[in-house]
Amino acid sequence: MLQPIDLLDWASSPSHLQYNRYVKSGYRPLLSTWGCLQSLFYVHNELFNVYSHGLFALYFMFIVPMQVPWSGITQPLFVYLSCMSAVTVLLGSFCYHLFMNHHGGAPVYSKLLQCDMIGIGVLNLFGPIGCLFVNFYPWGRYCYAILIIYTAVTTRALFKSVTAKDARGRAVPFIPMMLFRGVLLVLRMCGFGSASHAALWHMVAGEIAGVTGAVINILRVPERWLPGRLSDYLLNSHCIHHVCAVTAILNLHWATMEDILWFAN
Ligand SMILES: [Zn+2]
Repeated sequence: MLQPIDLLDWASSPSHLQYNRYVKSGYRPLLSTWGCLQSLFYVHNELFNVYSHGLFALYFMFIVPMQVPWSGITQPLFVYLSCMSAVTVLLGSFCYHLFMNHHGGAPVYSKLLQCDMIGIGVLNLFGPIGCLFVNFYPWGRYCYAILIIYTAVTTRALFKSVTAKDARGRAVPFIPMMLFRGVLLVLRMCGFGSASHAALWHMVAGEIAGVTGAVINILRVPERWLPGRLSDYLLNSHCIHHVCAVTAILNLHWATMEDILWFAN
């Protein structure tokens, strides 16, 4: 593969990109928009992050809608929301990683990070909503109360995280939402409401993948234990976080499909 520019080490990279000191090499210098786009075609330390979410965004845009048995479902809105939220978070992440070294510097980086956070918020807001609806539908008006509370808690987390100044400020607002969703999941596991059994296990797998990826990303492992080119380019916490994120998004969508088909039948 062509490598038309000299990549930088951590110490020489733009300061706003020095958020993981255990990734030592492979940084792109500041580039124009066209230069960032050209970086799709040579190896650097963000390439896996760009492609892992970019390709799955295309998958959710073009392949998944063709696989949905539209004629067999009665609540297509929740399938639209599931696909839309997956595309939003994956595209937001794709743009963040592709253009994070834009020559606009830290102000552009900050906007891209906000796009990334908006995607995460939209996924959390609309991704599980179909499963919550199906699960608590027998509860009548309490079902709608749960959906409204969940929407309010998640929207609050979204706005607080987008306006936060640091990583902790971006993560903490999502904790009440996670706890609320955890309680709802436990209720479902205990048999409250009614929904697809297969969907439940997709939901559990998705939550485990999401939390695992977040913890690995925070701990900066394995790169802090195994520094080197493999960790710089492929086997680092953020790349693993991306794999976990895709696993979580897929499981969330599969859970939605299982529940919506179960509801229709
Ligand atoms: Zn990422």
